[in-house]
Amino acid sequence: MRMTDIEAPGHERLVRVEDDASGLRAFIAIHSTRLGPAAGGLRMRPYESEQAAIEDVLRLSRGMTFKNAAAGLPLGGGKAVIIGDPAADKSPELLLAFGEAVEALGGRYWTAEDMGMSPRDMEIIARRTAHVAGLAEGPHASGDPSPVTAQGVFNAMRIAARRRLGSENLSGRAVAVQGLGHVGEHLCRLLHEAGARLIVTDVARPAVERAVARFGALAVSPDEIYDAPADIFAPCAIGATLNEATIARLKVKVVAGAANNQLATPEDGRRLHERGILLAPDFVANGGGIINVAAEIGRIPDREEWVAEKLAALEDTLERILSRAEALSCSPAEVAESIVEEILSRRAA
Ligand code: NAD
Repeated sequence: MRMTDIEAPGHERLVRVEDDASGLRAFIAIHSTRLGPAAGGLRMRPYESEQAAIEDVLRLSRGMTFKNAAAGLPLGGGKAVIIGDPAADKSPELLLAFGEAVEALGGRYWTAEDMGMSPRDMEIIARRTAHVAGLAEGPHASGDPSPVTAQGVFNAMRIAARRRLGSENLSGRAVAVQGLGHVGEHLCRLLHEAGARLIVTDVARPAVERAVARFGALAVSPDEIYDAPADIFAPCAIGATLNEATIARLKVKVVAGAANNQLATPEDGRRLHERGILLAPDFVANGGGIINVAAEIGRIPDREEWVAEKLAALEDTLERILSRAEALSCSPAEVAESIVEEILSRRAA
């Protein structure tokens, strides 16, 4: 196994990992350890080039610095990517080699699951390193973070609804949910229990059928979700679904969802603001998952209580962001970034 440092401006470290025996080709990016060890998941995708993998890992590790800081966690930002098809190229040997690389970083980077990875894969990685979270079993295992992520998104939705719709009571409100995967389905359940009406979409037909059967949701096609006559839009599928064309079509007054990097460009935050649509910034709204993982990293004994406290603090942070955005009449996305910059510079001082 070979580890080579690559120059990456704005990042503390970018390491290329290569192992001929297992075929591992990976990159580990450490954006910042100013608040603590860098933490962020491991993604496996058949990237079309090493450059594409590097761009993804750098963007995602910076995003983790912001998400961890906004959630008030003693963690910095990092991320790892493996180049390959998880269905065809993943093997125990490859995961063990990756675990060795994480261990060689001496605890400056903590890994966990992300796209293309499962708790079972984390168990294999854990045979080579102690710096792995998202395990399914064990004294501190945090399991699936999705229910906590969904709870955080639901909380963010209520806060934004109070400010833009006049009440945080979601009973009778129409919510358009894009993506009914791990988070989207839990979110639909919370919304259904709160009395909201659901308009849903997914590219996977069975997920849509489940939401219709369980929650009485109205199903629309993946493209029609932008035109849905709803109060709230919840992007819970992929990134960059909010762009110039889709924002122009939205009928909603609030956007709050789980997807990372929902805005295609920073201008799209301004576009939402100009249309009077209140955005709960993604890295604040979806911080519940990393809070859950952080409890495992920190070996927190009373995890439920600790997670609940951190979720409540995340609500306060969102209130602060939305208040400042209102006072400055600007996009909450811009304010969220500047608030995190403040947290980081306070720590540096
Ligand atoms: P998931 O893969 O379980 O679910 C995503 C769902 O979106 C799938 O059902 C998929 O079929 C659907 N989808 C994909 N493209 C679509 C499209 N164009 N239109 C409609 N549906 C589409 O993922 P997840 O764990 O539920 O996460 C959802 C999003 O939230 C992702 O962007 C993820 O990065 C982010 N996120 C998840 C967590 C977590 O705890 N799981 C935490 C933070 C952020």
